[in-house]
Amino acid sequence: MKTDIKSLTLAELQSQLAQMGQSSFRAGQVYAWLHRGAVTFGEMTDLPKALRESLDERYEITAAQVVRKQASQQDGTVKYLWRLSDGNCVETVLMRYRYGNSVCISSEVGCPMGCAFCASTLGGLVRRLRPSEMLDQVLFTQLDAGQPISHIVLMGIGEPLDNLDTVLRFLALVNSPQGMNIGMRHISLSTCGLVPKIRQLAEKKLQLTLSVSLHAPNDEIRNTIMPVNRAYHVEALLAACRDYARMTGRRISFEYAMIRGVNDSPACARLLLKRLRGMPAHVNLIPLNEVAESPLKPSSRQTIRQFQQILADGGLPVTVRRSLGGDIDAACGQLRRKTAVTASQ
Ligand code: SAH
Repeated sequence: MKTDIKSLTLAELQSQLAQMGQSSFRAGQVYAWLHRGAVTFGEMTDLPKALRESLDERYEITAAQVVRKQASQQDGTVKYLWRLSDGNCVETVLMRYRYGNSVCISSEVGCPMGCAFCASTLGGLVRRLRPSEMLDQVLFTQLDAGQPISHIVLMGIGEPLDNLDTVLRFLALVNSPQGMNIGMRHISLSTCGLVPKIRQLAEKKLQLTLSVSLHAPNDEIRNTIMPVNRAYHVEALLAACRDYARMTGRRISFEYAMIRGVNDSPACARLLLKRLRGMPAHVNLIPLNEVAESPLKPSSRQTIRQFQQILADGGLPVTVRRSLGGDIDAACGQLRRKTAVTASQ
């Protein structure tokens, strides 16, 4: 089996090429080509032909192929469905903001977490992605868009902390100055709350933004919508978040999908306020995006405003997320490999 060359860091590539008798200068050239989107060694025209051939014998270069691309008529959001080398597909969403272009990327094919409101988990987990396959989503979106990507959110299909080693390697690749050079402060990672992994990530002291999908202020409600809560209760999750904020110096962003009659009462808002008190936190209220297979409905605008007001009055920074790409099913929780593949056939 050939080695997946784009999953290697520059240092690893240098040491592997050194074993082939090549200088670190050559490794740097190869790395630069890969991170500019070269898909064959033949394209690397400033390398000697013999080297290109021996690289081709040893290494595989991953590439994501566009199966389907949908552009929102409302806001310029673009949803890509990519085919990976083994035929599996994942989705990436490009969002255009005043501050730059942001991509929402997937970390797994499917998702094992089973949240009641989310389309990505309906078929369970198919497999985890490789570092190169995460990088390719950013790289090929940038090439297709013809504009630089400046921000990344790990909020697409999958649970990034279920695939932590891969995600860490991806972060090193995308952040590397010889690669796409996207700053950690421009990257957000969203988790449903895998407590031991949050603690492991904290040790790395990365300057990325950790988003935690809280969605409920107590176990009673959270247990009914997020199976992960039965393993890691709200109290344990918030304790890990407090430690994370202390260790990294970064405030935590809590995501809270507003679900009609489930988690949107004034009492929920007051309890949330109480539980987050003293923690450097920001709450992002997301009007639930409807998913055909789920009976859950979004809260009314008035309910959301009232909930927001209670948090704001209590001194908690709170925003309501603007939903992008609603007309192309690209909004939070609507990405779903199976539907997309079927529709593209
Ligand atoms: N597994 C990670 C990241 C992917 S989900 C996580 O759970 O955080 C990205 C965000 O979208 C999460 O906050 C998730 O809870 C939210 N989400 C999922 N389905 C949604 C829906 N139907 N409406 C609004 N937000 C949703």
